Amino acid sequence: MTAPPRLALDRVARTFDGVAVVDDLSLEIAAGEVLCLLGPSGCGKTTTLRIAAGVERQSSGRVLLEGVVVSDANRHEPPERRSVGLMFQDFALFPHLDIAANIAFGLSGPKRERGAVAERFLERVGLKGFGGKYPHMLSGGEQQRVALARALAPNPRVMLMDEPFSGLDNRLRDAVRDQALSILKAEGTAVLLVTHDPEEAMRMADRIALMRKGRIVQTGAPYNVYNRPVDREAASFLSDVNVIHGVVRNRQTDTPFGLFLTPKLIDGADVEIIVRPEHLKVDLGENGPPAANVKTGVPAAGTVVRARFVGAESLIEVRMEHDGARLISTVPGAFLPEEGARVWLSLRRDHCHLFPCRVQSHVS
Ligand code: ATP
Repeated sequence: MTAPPRLALDRVARTFDGVAVVDDLSLEIAAGEVLCLLGPSGCGKTTTLRIAAGVERQSSGRVLLEGVVVSDANRHEPPERRSVGLMFQDFALFPHLDIAANIAFGLSGPKRERGAVAERFLERVGLKGFGGKYPHMLSGGEQQRVALARALAPNPRVMLMDEPFSGLDNRLRDAVRDQALSILKAEGTAVLLVTHDPEEAMRMADRIALMRKGRIVQTGAPYNVYNRPVDREAASFLSDVNVIHGVVRNRQTDTPFGLFLTPKLIDGADVEIIVRPEHLKVDLGENGPPAANVKTGVPAAGTVVRARFVGAESLIEVRMEHDGARLISTVPGAFLPEEGARVWLSLRRDHCHLFPCRVQSHVS
């Protein structure tokens, strides 16, 4: 028999003043799994997490921990009766307690035992010997590690994290994130992590649940969500995209990059072909235009209007000769064509996503 998910939300909804902020949302998280709820500001991520914690009550639906209903229409276990750890960006440490006392705060049992658990978790987050210090004596990253130790010390079945790293500067954030992830994995905790930052979600998640207007629109491993977006909005939320417009004629769509088969779309339908900058190849065409092939289709000519070296890669913006559209390509950093140069762009057809437009007009 397989174990029930550590955390399950079953058709949960929450309305505020008649507006559905969370709308028929279901998710499951297994032990040792990190699920990132990713979406724009205001889409209902925090409300979902608060419902899982029990600090907010859903209007309908159920919350289950390890297969046991902890909240539905008839009952509602308060947060302290759920085995959940919480970690928020602004979930400050108690300034008047030393680090050991901060970590031991949520624990029960004799003082000596609590102290031993605090010591153990301090060591686990790499802060052995910090127990007697006070929060103001620690850096932001160290404080976040203490917050993690505090949340983990009671051995929660589920960890709920709301933008826990967003207060840290870039360098530190990566290090703290990676360390937090390896600790959470070692503990085997089920983690629900809320973030609006796609990079954080991809770095942390086993699965991403992409959220929009109170609903989950796509769930999957980061690679799949990134490479197989359900629609244009999902694609562009994860990273920059180029949009190539086309119109269906005779069940196919003609573009400067060649024909795309669109057998299911009616003639006259507007379509958008989405391709990420790293899947657009720039060729100087010193020996004439590169040959067309099955993988990349027909190369299309344009002029470099911007070329910037940004470290590991260069960012190249090209104005297409065909229609003046501007497309962006990212290429390995060593390659930096002159601005004004004529180049050929070709795209990785297996990384193109074709979606019918909802609005019947061209947007450029
Ligand atoms: P952010 O990333 O900005 O925190 P979010 O995706 O976490 O956004 P929520 O904080 O869940 O979004 O809020 C979703 C919507 O619900 C917002 O429009 C917010 O104003 C509204 N909302 C949240 N809590 C309440 C409340 N107690 N009363 C009324 N409206 C609320």
